[in-house]
Amino acid sequence: MPRVGVFLDRDGTVIEEVGYVNHPERLRLLPRSAEAIRLLNDAGLAAVLVTNQSGVARGYFPEKLVQELHATLERLLAREGARLDAIYYCPHHPDVGPPGLRLDCDCRKPRTGMLDRAAVDLGIDVARSYMIGDTFRDVKCAQAAGALAIMVQTGYGKGELEYHPDRGRVIPDHQASDLLDAAAWIVTRERAKGD
Ligand SMILES: [Mg+2]
Ligand SMILES: [Zn+2]
Repeated sequence: MPRVGVFLDRDGTVIEEVGYVNHPERLRLLPRSAEAIRLLNDAGLAAVLVTNQSGVARGYFPEKLVQELHATLERLLAREGARLDAIYYCPHHPDVGPPGLRLDCDCRKPRTGMLDRAAVDLGIDVARSYMIGDTFRDVKCAQAAGALAIMVQTGYGKGELEYHPDRGRVIPDHQASDLLDAAAWIVTRERAKGD
């Protein structure tokens, strides 16, 4: 039986949005992120991080740093009993960067390549899954993949919801104050289905 997945944007959703995270010391978990991910873990939902990291293509930081950051993130979460089932990142940019990184790839959100890969790797049914993010780009990605889109008001969320010109065209399926609020909504919804 395919699993239900919850795809999580990283910056502004799980960790603080600080512009490019170009050093591990700039990584800060948002206050309720570990609790949110633990809730998903306990409900048997696959928690999958999907993050655009075009700073690699742009030459702002090496790909190795992205991997170090993710090791740090996993350690911070583990300390609070939370765990990500998988992490995917897109290091590409369509217009800048060296060959191999300057790429019109299928993984840069709002494209769905990272979700498609996770579906295969983890046996996730994307059509029954969810994505939580702080930008309309995440909402577009979720809806293109056929998942339910939840937009949080952390990170860029509040500003995007108030001022983004796409407002009215791209409509999240649900809005939540933060990751824990979003996770609780998902878990409640999944429990109701199970009854
Ligand atoms: Mg974000
Ligand atoms: Zn990519």
